Amino acid sequence: MSEIPVVETDTPVDVTFDSLKLSPEVLKAIEEKGYTRPTPIQAEAIPALLEGRDLIGGSQTGTGKTAAFALPILSRLGKHQKTPRCLIIEPTRELARQVIEQLELYGKYTGLKSVLLHGGVGYGAQREALTTGVDIVVATPGRLLDHLGQKAMTLSKVEYLVLDEADRMLDMGFLPDVRRIIGYCPKKRQSLLFSATIPPEIERLSKWMLDDPLEFKIGGGRKPADTIKHSIYPVDDRQKFDLLVALLKKLDYHSVLIFTRTRVGADVIARWLDATGHGKVAVLHSDRTQKERDKAMADFKSGKCEILVATDIVARGIDITDVSHVINYDIPQHPEDYVHRIGRTGRADRSGDAVTIFTAGEKDHLAAIERFIGQEIPKSKLEDFEYNWSPVFDDGAPKKRKRNRNYGGEINYRWTKR
Ligand code: AMP
Repeated sequence: MSEIPVVETDTPVDVTFDSLKLSPEVLKAIEEKGYTRPTPIQAEAIPALLEGRDLIGGSQTGTGKTAAFALPILSRLGKHQKTPRCLIIEPTRELARQVIEQLELYGKYTGLKSVLLHGGVGYGAQREALTTGVDIVVATPGRLLDHLGQKAMTLSKVEYLVLDEADRMLDMGFLPDVRRIIGYCPKKRQSLLFSATIPPEIERLSKWMLDDPLEFKIGGGRKPADTIKHSIYPVDDRQKFDLLVALLKKLDYHSVLIFTRTRVGADVIARWLDATGHGKVAVLHSDRTQKERDKAMADFKSGKCEILVATDIVARGIDITDVSHVINYDIPQHPEDYVHRIGRTGRADRSGDAVTIFTAGEKDHLAAIERFIGQEIPKSKLEDFEYNWSPVFDDGAPKKRKRNRNYGGEINYRWTKR
């Protein structure tokens, strides 16, 4: 593979959709959707993809990435045929669903047919769609391999292959499956790989999978969108939940996404919030059944639940428009997840607020995030909140410590402001 040409795509480009040589059917759908002009990544990627180039792209969320690959592929697929010619692999069911929804919207006048293949649901409807004949398959790796193993489908006519969120596939242990799937596709094809970071495993995969690709760095891939106001709220470990409640009281929210590190944590926080009168709280993580996951997402999207507590499964790429606030109850373990999580708000040029609750044990994680995004995140304190002293506060030990013995004989240190 020769040196990858790099195209930076964070400077707006003055082009219209009309000038991009997309098919009239696709243009009609975009117009109906109300998009007035391409986003920077669309303006750069669409012409290259229409020419048949392979592509490796950073995937900062909210940049219009999905349309950037969907519009040219839909334009090039032409008329409906009965064998899959486009395969899009996604790491999670939610992402797969979201991508197919966008594809169906942009492709509504093309007559092309698509199918969504993921686990957690029956095989019947998926098999039936495959038998009837589809042009586009959007799938998560496990279920796709099941169908391939059962010879319910073939990938031998695939012309367009999209591997989305490749670094997340790696984290989830899907890379061997992904390689097997790609092995079912013809060598001659157009391939696209999106990944927020390029660890050595992804680099190797990209060299194997792509042919002379164009590289897109979207906003450097690391910068949170300028429309997001983000801040850190340091607090003592034992006061995290109290601070969350106080923050919710203060924030003028209509839809809040709260991220926890663990699945159990998400359940506990949702239960506690329920108990403290925060209305119905939706929960989304991978231990929930598909039905529960769909319902949680639907209730949050429709506004039936104003709060969604989730693990990182929804941090990546999920497009819930109009999230007013993101709260990191636990700081993300991987720096790039910070950008993904807070990217759930402030999408497509709307403004949003992201708040991270931060405790003493998370100092290294915060430092890694700030290094990754190349900026310090401003620290805030909630007025009228009675903070306990904790080593997390930058100003170190409190000037004055009141040493109180409570009835249990435990020692409480109350943090007092200087
Ligand atoms: P994505 O980065 O693909 O998740 O897209 C983020 C959001 O931007 C989605 O809600 C899209 O519907 C929206 N979007 C994509 N392209 C455009 C565009 N050219 N103009 C306005 N909104 C767009």
